[in-house]
Amino acid sequence: MNILLVGSGGREHALAWKMARSGRVSTLFATPGNAGICEEAECVSLDASDHGAVISFCRANDVRLVVIGPEAPLVAGLADDLRGEGIAVFGPGRAAARLEGSKSFTKDMCRRYGIPTAAYETFDDEAAALAYLEERGAPVVVKADGLAAGKGVIVASGMDEARAAIGDIFGGAFGAAGARVVLEDMLVGEEASFFALCDGRTALPLATAQDHKRAYDGDEGPNTGGMGAYSPAPVMTEEMNARVMEEIINPTMRAMADMGCPFSGVLYAGLMITEKGPELIEYNVRFGDPECQPLMMRLDSDLVDMLEAAASGDLAGGRIDWLDEAALTVVMAARGYPGSYEKGSVIEGVERAGEDERVKVFHAGTTRGEGGELLAAGGRVLNVTALGATISEAQRRAYEAVEKINWPEGFCRKDIGWRAVAREKGA
Ligand code: AMP
Repeated sequence: MNILLVGSGGREHALAWKMARSGRVSTLFATPGNAGICEEAECVSLDASDHGAVISFCRANDVRLVVIGPEAPLVAGLADDLRGEGIAVFGPGRAAARLEGSKSFTKDMCRRYGIPTAAYETFDDEAAALAYLEERGAPVVVKADGLAAGKGVIVASGMDEARAAIGDIFGGAFGAAGARVVLEDMLVGEEASFFALCDGRTALPLATAQDHKRAYDGDEGPNTGGMGAYSPAPVMTEEMNARVMEEIINPTMRAMADMGCPFSGVLYAGLMITEKGPELIEYNVRFGDPECQPLMMRLDSDLVDMLEAAASGDLAGGRIDWLDEAALTVVMAARGYPGSYEKGSVIEGVERAGEDERVKVFHAGTTRGEGGELLAAGGRVLNVTALGATISEAQRRAYEAVEKINWPEGFCRKDIGWRAVAREKGA
């Protein structure tokens, strides 16, 4: 079977790497890809926002399955247009992608179907939002409704900060994403990510992970797309996983089907594990980046079989196997990220770092120079991922591999996994 993968990040490199190990693939195409993806797939230059061009490519190349990595093409309806042409797609259509594209849509669904989440109200008007804030008080979480590249959320500990956040969002700081504002209570607990594979009717639990959003050690500094992740999340016991399926994921599948927009693809639940149990913070409608990377390292089933079953509604009765090991990813980014940074610096030692069979260096923003040298081409550039019997062991192995990479213009956090490692030491 020929497959087209859409995307260019570390997440897509991990998906390409795992798909390429399936016996089911004739040709794996990727667009636009990166230097790492091009080692696993035939990279082609297509504009994913030109749905007609993607459809023509699939027809001309007998592509039977399209796997969409990032959220933007999903929210833009690429999956709907491909399915309309009879091409199978892994990923939700536009209506189901509202679970990520509109926070108020998800919150309203939770309220209507009794899914645990923080108490909230939605506002299209600044004065009404400020009036609610005066009544409700701080701390409070202020959110732009639409997609804001992970930046439209302000956890405000005081009233002044909350008022300023409401003013900023309605003032246009996040463009059209901020035409509507959600105000919600602050949840207290430990955060975890839970991934489920969905085919419109059935959801199968995948695995859990925890990520590090802040740029610097100690979870300090500005928010980023993610500086590292590990799987599984120690806070997610078997009992907690069962509760998430029963109280959050399965009711969401029923709600989406009931509302006429059944969900297929990966449902990524951002959770707060509170004293009362799991509560939903937000949904994403695709794999996390970098959470996907440790997940793919741990996966012991055929990824193509899984994605195809999800795309064609055949997940019922399926099972997914995982290595009985932990995995951890350290993101190497260009100095200056998430602010401004230079592109084009030379990176050496990636092959050496990946010589250990329990280490894989996934590429994010990379390209090849004219002489074949590896060049940085983005903010987040490499994802050094390692397996280990414990998270502590995976962490040690990942940082040993980082040491073999020579890239003076890059940096990484030195403490990815600290919470899990502390827990293991205490155990
Ligand atoms: P979101 O984009 O909705 O996942 O929010 C980004 C981050 O803001 C989350 O990962 C949490 O750390 C934090 N956050 C969002 N909503 C809440 C909430 N209701 N209570 C506490 N923290 C929250």
